[in-house]
Amino acid sequence: MNTEQDRRRFMSLAGGGFVGSVGMQWAGAASADPQEPDLIVYNAKVHTVDNATPMAQAFAVRSGRFVAVGSNDIKSLAGRRTQSYDAKGAMIVPGFIDAHNHGGGEGLLYDVLVGNPYEVELVSIDSIVSKLKAKARTVPPGTWVEGFFLDDTKLKDKRPLNVHDLDKATTDHPVAVHHRGGHTTFVNSKAFQMAGITKNTPNPFGGTYDKDQNGELNGRVTDRAQVTLEKFGARETFSPAQKEKRVLNGVAFISKKFVQYGLTTVHHNEVGVLEAMQEQRLRGNLLHRVSYEVNGDLLEAMIRTGIESNFGDEWIRLGATSEHTVDGSLSERTMAMSRPYIGISPPYKGNLTETQDDLNAWCERVHRANIRLNCHANGDVAIDRTLTAYERALKLYPRLDSRPKITHCSMINDELLRRMKAINVVPAMFSTYPYYNSDKFHFYGEEMMRHMIAFRTMIDAGIVPAAGSDFGPGPFAPLMAIQAMVTRTGWNGETWGANQKITLDEAIRVNTLNGAYNAREENDKGSVTVGKLADYVILADDLHIVAPSKIKDVEIVRTVVGGRTVYQA
Ligand SMILES: [Zn+2]
Repeated sequence: MNTEQDRRRFMSLAGGGFVGSVGMQWAGAASADPQEPDLIVYNAKVHTVDNATPMAQAFAVRSGRFVAVGSNDIKSLAGRRTQSYDAKGAMIVPGFIDAHNHGGGEGLLYDVLVGNPYEVELVSIDSIVSKLKAKARTVPPGTWVEGFFLDDTKLKDKRPLNVHDLDKATTDHPVAVHHRGGHTTFVNSKAFQMAGITKNTPNPFGGTYDKDQNGELNGRVTDRAQVTLEKFGARETFSPAQKEKRVLNGVAFISKKFVQYGLTTVHHNEVGVLEAMQEQRLRGNLLHRVSYEVNGDLLEAMIRTGIESNFGDEWIRLGATSEHTVDGSLSERTMAMSRPYIGISPPYKGNLTETQDDLNAWCERVHRANIRLNCHANGDVAIDRTLTAYERALKLYPRLDSRPKITHCSMINDELLRRMKAINVVPAMFSTYPYYNSDKFHFYGEEMMRHMIAFRTMIDAGIVPAAGSDFGPGPFAPLMAIQAMVTRTGWNGETWGANQKITLDEAIRVNTLNGAYNAREENDKGSVTVGKLADYVILADDLHIVAPSKIKDVEIVRTVVGGRTVYQA
């Protein structure tokens, strides 16, 4: 408490005192070139997300960081080399931070996309089948034909995709259409045949082979049952050179997309792209900053060699682990809850995908290596299990301010909140879902939605929730996220859990400073503050003035990272 107050007081002195005397102190110094700003932005409505000076008119940038924030007097700091930018009254916010994102640029560039990754768009089952048919013509029989970005509630046909639809695409190839949520897949008969799965095959641990009313396989496969199917069939192969090119192109592509929407930092849950990110950085094509969330070989190597979270620099830094999955999905209705889903019989309470003992062991090992914990837990049962493992690990190896992360942390209650607060869990919660997935919330109902994606409750409890789009599962546009948090109203006009609305200023903070806090980068990022990295976004309209239902349509005029413009409308 005291440290925080001291820090605030210090910042307000530094900020306020500096700006008040800016003309006198710095006009003389301006001739001394090393002190000269590279850039001065003035006539702006800067929403700083810094409590000490919430609003500013101008700021100066030198060597990629803010060196002055305050009134238009800052213009007097300009030297001969200083560039000036007249914002003409535009609103400027700190660069947006996405605290949970799967990136996946390679897939966006090269895969069959059966849905729209970025916006709400309804598609027909016919269009999906014809895309898969076309793909099947390009690969040998027995090779998987896959479609991505299916959203079961964005189908014009208003019925689920099934095994018969996919048999129309091809019977010579196994077909898999992956739900964008990542926890369910729809397959054809060939896929079941190759895996030897019939209607009599029992469900594996942590997953299901779903049936129709007649007890026949309907093609939907959930959570860990997907793994069984993936073991069979051939896949398209690429030479090392082809693969390298695909990954590199993917990184450049997604980086461009991110900054186009105003993201300046993204927490990447991705495997195998770290090298490509570094290469594209050298080539000048990495436009956003990366908190790289690790698993697999990289996590093992870190544990073995003693590399800890936050190793790296302000462009690419090792973050928490990637999400260690404890239960199923919110959007695909497989998350592990204490109460059964509405309208499903026999009663179904979702999938837990990890035993308590395995989870305890994993958390202990990772936390002991001082790598930040991060588990995927949606339902209250999964969050309880995750907290049990976190509490145990922190007790065995106490560390100051370890900030274990929970990805999604969707369904909470008072007891879970109390336990989260006690060990300062940092949640990365679904950001765009209340807008994008409002068509799925009737599966939970209003009573449950009042406790779901609970930004209001979290903030009131003194927890620091960040925005995690979970892209691909959710679109990543930060302005869509802000609109969702402020209105809790979806694209279809439905409002669910309105008690969880937060104010516009809170939503901006969740999408900026809280994202920095989530990765322990709040001293470098998340607000327009002297000393921090000059990452910011210029908006065409003041978000305080546009109708809340139009926030997502506000144009991003410019995205700037480290003082360099990386996107311009
Ligand atoms: Zn995820």
